[in-house]
Amino acid sequence: MFLNDLRRAFPNANMKFNEPLKHYTYTETGGPADVLIFPETAEEIKALVRFANKAHEPVLVLGNSSNVIISDEGVYGVVLMLTEMDYISFEGDEIKAGAGSKIIDVSRQAGDRSLTGLEFACGIPGSTGGAVYMNAGAYGGEISEVLVEIDVVSKAGRFYTISNEDLKLAYRYSDLQESGDIVVEARFKLQAGDYDTIQATMAELTEARESKQPLEYPSCGSVFKRPEGHYTGKLIQEAGLQGYTIGGAQISKKHAGFIINIGGASATDYINMIHFIQETIYKKDNVLLEPEVRILGKRTKYDVVDDGFEHQ
Ligand SMILES: Cc1cc2nc3c(=O)[nH]c(=O)nc-3n(C[C@H](O)[C@H](O)[C@H](O)COP(=O)(O)OP(=O)(O)OC[C@H]3O[C@@H](n4cnc5c(N)ncnc54)[C@H](O)[C@@H]3O)c2cc1C
Repeated sequence: MFLNDLRRAFPNANMKFNEPLKHYTYTETGGPADVLIFPETAEEIKALVRFANKAHEPVLVLGNSSNVIISDEGVYGVVLMLTEMDYISFEGDEIKAGAGSKIIDVSRQAGDRSLTGLEFACGIPGSTGGAVYMNAGAYGGEISEVLVEIDVVSKAGRFYTISNEDLKLAYRYSDLQESGDIVVEARFKLQAGDYDTIQATMAELTEARESKQPLEYPSCGSVFKRPEGHYTGKLIQEAGLQGYTIGGAQISKKHAGFIINIGGASATDYINMIHFIQETIYKKDNVLLEPEVRILGKRTKYDVVDDGFEHQ
């Protein structure tokens, strides 16, 4: 009923029903979305959020799906994937980027214009919106250092602008993780730099990534946050867990902080592996590893920890 009404209300929207999300996630796992929509404008997002709110249907937003495990049971309600909102524009040292643009492209296009500050992001496979939501970072840099402000559509379906300060950005954290606001555009300010130095830094970071990370396999990057006073990879390595396999999910032999899909992994394999690692490290080192990856979707017997919306 809701899905029919939705189709009628948005006849031109790019909409797929019962669409398997494993076709989009970086782990190549995850069940179907009741409906997956690719909005093209902020106005469209606002209208869709309002429509879903009226029908008491939850809304989940995804960017590039590089930091999510979505349960095998799938996702209730409406999933908005913002990959069509992929514009990037420059004015001097200021950048406007649609939430669905790739942060790698923003970083590289800035580098092409001799703008420095986003080199750290040249290998982070997320969208601009996802990078803000996660305050993504690498090699000593993070989004908080270059972000000016964002435009959002709130949970209630209203537009507003939030400054960097008001986002309370911290290690892999933004206030968006509490508010549920949807980023539609981000604005950055960089500095004029030296073209050759910027290119050399990006080449160095790319080389470091390629030599240390198992990029030849599907994964969601580092699964856990760095616990204070420890390195996650080192804890997992020292526990002798590298190569441990559950179904198609394996703790990478190349980088212990990654869980790779060696073929046919399910989201349940990933979630069971996350719990196994947490339990093992807690017993051995008395350290509780907190997932960095967002675990989303319908609740299951496997204790999905966060589905991004409240159930009635
Ligand atoms: C190989 C690999 C390497 C990685 N390396 C790094 C790294 O070096 N540093 C790092 O920080 N991360 C890294 N990541 C993780 C990931 O790329 C980042 O967290 C990225 O910022 C996530 O963006 P996304 O668009 O893929 O988000 P998604 O995975 O689509 O979503 C992640 C979360 O953000 C929310 N979200 C997404 N878009 C929006 C939006 N527009 N508005 C509101 N909420 C939104 C989603 O609801 C979800 O909760 C890596 C991942 C992989 C696979």
